[in-house]
Formats: sequence, C-alpha cells, structure tokens
Amino acid sequence: MKFLTDLSKEKIFGRTCLLRVDLNIAEKEAKNSPRILGILPTIKFLIKNGAKVVILSHRGRPQKISSIKYQVLSYTLKSFAKILSKALNQKIKFIDNFNFQKIKEEINKSKTENIYLLENLRFLSGEEKNDKKLAKQLANLGDFYVNDAFAASHRVNASVSAITKFLPSYAGFLMEKEIKNLSFVMDPPHKFMWGVKNPRRRRGSLKAAKKPFVIILGGAKISDKIGLIENFQKKADYFLIGGGIAHNFLLAQGLPIGDSIFEEKTIGFAKKMLKNKKIILPVDYAIKNRKILDIGPNTMKLYSDIIRKAKTIIWNGPMGYFEDKRFAKGSEAIIKAILKNKAFSVVGGGETATLFSLKPKTYNLKPNIFVSTGGGAMLEYLAGKKLPGIKALK
Ligand code: ADP
Ligand code: MG
Repeated sequence: MKFLTDLSKEKIFGRTCLLRVDLNIAEKEAKNSPRILGILPTIKFLIKNGAKVVILSHRGRPQKISSIKYQVLSYTLKSFAKILSKALNQKIKFIDNFNFQKIKEEINKSKTENIYLLENLRFLSGEEKNDKKLAKQLANLGDFYVNDAFAASHRVNASVSAITKFLPSYAGFLMEKEIKNLSFVMDPPHKFMWGVKNPRRRRGSLKAAKKPFVIILGGAKISDKIGLIENFQKKADYFLIGGGIAHNFLLAQGLPIGDSIFEEKTIGFAKKMLKNKKIILPVDYAIKNRKILDIGPNTMKLYSDIIRKAKTIIWNGPMGYFEDKRFAKGSEAIIKAILKNKAFSVVGGGETATLFSLKPKTYNLKPNIFVSTGGGAMLEYLAGKKLPGIKALK
C-alpha cells in the first residue's frame, strides 16, 4: 500500500487530487467532529504542495423513492463547503451537478480556485454499486487519488473501491493514522500492514499489545460486536460488558430484564460466551420504568479498578442510555478511568467517539489515546476483516 507521505512533491505540484473523505456527519456536530478535524492536514498538505483538490464524499442514505428536491434538501453536501472552508480558511467551490465534462474543464481552466467539493455521490446510483463507469468518470477529473475516508472503507463503493483501478492511489494522513493505531492492538498485526513499503513506519505495529488487555463493550446491539469479541477472545484478558449488550448475557443466564432492550437472535452467542471467564458482567444497574438504563455504582467501581491495571484498552459502546444525563454516569466513569491510565487506548464507535469528544481538551493532550473516526469500519477492522477500501489501495 502506498501512503501520501510516499508521494514525491514533484508528483503533487500542478496536479489534481481526487480526495475521498467521510463527511457523513450531522451538521451540528461538524465543527468539532474528529472526521472534519482529521482530514484538514491532508487537504492543507496537498494545497501547500501545489495541487488542486477535488473532495468526494457521501452523506446519509438518500432514498430512491422520494422526490429529487427532497433528496437534495436533506442530503446535500453544500453546507460542508462552508464548514470546511471556515476550518481551512480557504475558499471552496461547491459543485452541485455531475456534468463531468464541464466540471473537468472548469477545474483545468481555473487559476484562482483550487479546492472543490462535489455533491453527495450517493445521488448517483453507481456509487453504491461500485460501478466502473462512474469510477472512471470520477477518475477522469484528476491525476491521482487519495483515500482519507477510513470510516467509509468498509463499503464497496465506486469512489472508495473501483476508482483505484483508474488512478495511482494513496492512503491519506487520517487513513494512515487509523491503520497504524488500530493495527497496534491487533496481534499479530493486521495483515494489511505487511504490505507497507516503509519498514520504519511499520515498527510500532509489530509490537504485540501489552497485557492486561481490557476491552470495554457496551452500546445497543451485540450483533455489531460479535466479530470483535471473537477476534479478541484469546488476545484480550477482560471483556467488561455494559449497555444494552449486557442484557443479552442476563437473558442467556435465564435472568429477567423487564422491558430493557435486547436482541433475540444473539442469545445463543451470549450463552456460548458465558463459558468464557474473561467476560465480566455488571453487578448492579440503574433502572427506571422496568428498564435497565445504566450500570450501577458497584459496577463502575469494579470496572474502573480493572481499567486502572490495564496496559492496553479498547472501548466501544456506551455503558447506558447516555443521551439522558441521569444514565450517562456509567459511561462517564469509564471515560474517567481511561483518561487516568497511561495505557495505549483505542476509543471508537459513532456514539462512543462523540461521547469522548465532549472532552476534546483532555484527550487531545493525551497521545496514548486514539479516538477512531470509523464507526462500523472500525468494528470490522478490529474483527479482522479486510476492508474493501484498504484492499483497493494495495
Ligand atoms: P457506538 O455507535 O459507539 O458503536 P452503539 O451504536 O452500539 O455505540 O450504541 C449506542 C447506543 O446504545 C446509544 O444510543 C445508547 O443510548 C444505547 N444504549 C446503551 N445502553 C443502553 C441501555 N441500557 N438501554 C437503552 N439504550 C442503551
Ligand atoms: Mg452507533
């Protein structure tokens, strides 16, 4: 795999870069979003070295049934041109059409504009079909391709996968950071790291994760996390279970859970996992209206004590229904315990990363904590799956 850092500056100057990023973010969260902050260094580097940049992204799940007007209103990327422009302190031209010939002429002709943002690629049916024709049309707009959309790299989409067949392709800075940090907790290091050109960059990832290795798992759906649990069954020392997924384990033990959330189809998996002594379940709960909504104070203490001794940590999934402040205490206790520890920690998942980002000052100062921008992509990577977007860069 080639990284943007491997690309010589002469090959950047005067060329046009197609940069795939993930702007699939709620507008109100965009300002402090790690997904926005994470791609700024890549864009700045390309511009500084004299490239023009055409930014590509998808947003949401536009539905084919509703009217075009509604689609554009709800899923346009237009506002992100302003958001990025502000963050970069540079003008960004938003392109609201897919008339590729015209767009190419406009980019080539322009002497003043050098950053463009193309409209939501999911407005084109070819994007999610990994359509070669669309990939070729996109590729035709530039001279080289950079993927900085780790969070979209578990999708087999035209702007993530097929496009690499038509252009020299590189992993951007954010993608590199994700791969380096996430492969650090994989033992043996994730397969994709073996193909890396620069051996110096590889060294860190070749070390095995230190023990005790503690994985904290919460959130809503256990089915999303089965791959991760299975992949780390041997490597990890403890799985601290909280959130909705704990309820599945309670059910598997034949215990009542009232009206709490659970997933019926995974009870079998939970039963099997109960035999594993590494699985630690809550000892008390916060309950309201017959629903378990958070872990209780004794569990917070138990989990914090285990986290304190950890030398490697992964955290995915809130410990409770944190959107209601009264049930955010369990997750806050976990945040506190992780921030106190000097261990290498990976924090990720859509909700978990947002929750953690509410303390931006603290975690920015702590280089031992890596907050992944990949929600589903991170879970798949940590499950040991090959992400199509990363595979396509090889
Ligand atoms: P992530 O996006 O970080 O991977 P998930 O999507 O798996 O996390 O889960 C996050 C959601 O789980 C949150 O919206 C939270 O409210 C919910 N959740 C966690 N625990 C509970 C609970 N006990 N009851 C209801 N919802 C819960
Ligand atoms: Mg989520």
